[in-house]
Amino acid sequence: MPEHHRVIIIGSGPAGNTAAIYTGRAGLKPLVLAGFTRGGPPGGQLMLTSEIENFPGFPEGGIDGKKLMGAMRKQGEEMGATYIDTDVDAVDLSKRPFKVVTADAEYIADSVIISTGARSRLFGIPGEEKLISRGLHTCATCDGAFYKKKHVLVLGGGDSAMEEAHYLTHFADVTLVHRREEFRASKTMLERVKKNPKIKMRLNEQPVEYLLRANGTVRGIKARNTKTGQSNDIEADGVFVAIGHIPNTDLFKGQLKMDDNGYIITGAAAGGPKDHPSTYTNVHGVFACGDVQDHTYRQAITAAGSGCMAAIDCERWLGEQG
Ligand code: NAP
Repeated sequence: MPEHHRVIIIGSGPAGNTAAIYTGRAGLKPLVLAGFTRGGPPGGQLMLTSEIENFPGFPEGGIDGKKLMGAMRKQGEEMGATYIDTDVDAVDLSKRPFKVVTADAEYIADSVIISTGARSRLFGIPGEEKLISRGLHTCATCDGAFYKKKHVLVLGGGDSAMEEAHYLTHFADVTLVHRREEFRASKTMLERVKKNPKIKMRLNEQPVEYLLRANGTVRGIKARNTKTGQSNDIEADGVFVAIGHIPNTDLFKGQLKMDDNGYIITGAAAGGPKDHPSTYTNVHGVFACGDVQDHTYRQAITAAGSGCMAAIDCERWLGEQG
């Protein structure tokens, strides 16, 4: 017989861990299927981030991403959550209780909180993921301040790249590297970047390789000019990749309502309460929080906030079911 739980939380970034703390404290004994971060330890994108300087509560130099996730998890466990370090292979949300399947076990649950997060799109250059936080970054708000008075590259030509490039000029000189002459970015954001004297552009350049220092950190890129075919080294102190994000929602395709980019739709638009924001998905008893349903803010603190919302929504919904 599959193990039965009141609530199963899928994913253990700031959203999942906060949902675990709150549902644990509410006596629901949540089971957290903690997932893996690109084959690394569970804990979501923050496991790939070094110092986090903008998570409230750490005034003296911020906190290491792994430490923050470790502390949140410990707090979840102390509140009565059980964590299992496993990915989820399949879910069946078509009827209650819901079914959740991992490589080793099958579980059933009265409610499910989805906090599987999102990942930054990368180029697929061999060894790329291991360079994250070693001169290669995917979030200017998180890591831009490490480059005060330095020179950084921003790779991409969409709104994310424009936003990151503009933000980074608070600290550094920026070269925006894009593979075409036309931009996917909106006109307003592109104009703002073009007018910014701290941003230069290198167009028609497709990144193909990272240049490394002797200590293994990134010192720029090797790019192929898409017009001439010529190979060019573009040097910098750090590199920010901004070619989009991919929500981790493959498991739920065909079962939950998603937008065109694959983010889970929550709140009133998914049939949740009309009078306030919520984490309801279109399936009653299934809630989603964190980056898996948020392509706008994507911050640890907003993910944690929505994890709290999901736990409260879930607890109230279970209460209504009796
Ligand atoms: P996006 O619009 O999909 O743009 C991705 C960019 O990365 C494109 O310029 C694309 O080049 C480039 N790219 C993708 N794969 C590449 C590869 N393998 N090699 C080289 N270049 C590659 O993604 P986004 O900028 O993250 O935006 C996603 C959505 O969020 C959009 O709807 C955007 O409007 C929205 N957004 C809004 C704001 C805002 O309003 N404040 C901020 C950020 C994002 P090509 O153009 O050549 O394909």
